[in-house]
Amino acid sequence: MSGSFQVRVEGVQFAAAHCATIGETCEPMHGHSYEVAAEVDGALAENSWVVDFVELKSILRKLCHELDHRFMLQTESRILKIESREGEWEVRTPAGAVYVLPASDVVALPIDNTTAERLAQWLSGRVWQAVGKKAVNNIKAVTVEVWEGPGQRAAHRRERLPVD
Ligand SMILES: [Zn+2]
Repeated sequence: MSGSFQVRVEGVQFAAAHCATIGETCEPMHGHSYEVAAEVDGALAENSWVVDFVELKSILRKLCHELDHRFMLQTESRILKIESREGEWEVRTPAGAVYVLPASDVVALPIDNTTAERLAQWLSGRVWQAVGKKAVNNIKAVTVEVWEGPGQRAAHRRERLPVD
């Protein structure tokens, strides 16, 4: 039998703060109620499963929990001057604003900007790692969608590299 199957979980939520940058400008700090979905494409493994819904949802919930009620800091920003000190992060914007945040309130993300696109990409990497640990190699792709608000969504799809 050919074709592939998709398994999708959705409606996992978290609330977090960020300052995305655009050009040389940094947005004022603000927050969103985010919603996340993950879709796994693959062939059926033993017992006619692609991936266990419960497991996929639990992976997504754990990841959203890491971000929930935190300030999401783009540590690879090309614009912000970021310094990690004992117990705190200092963030300077090009306009001269300085944020000093307790480390416990910050989730440091190795991305250049906290856009919904980059968050989706970061999450798809983590979901891929997590399902990859459990699953056999029936999984072909992982897509993560991030809603920054109602009707405003970015997605990232990560595919298995062809093996030769
Ligand atoms: Zn925002």
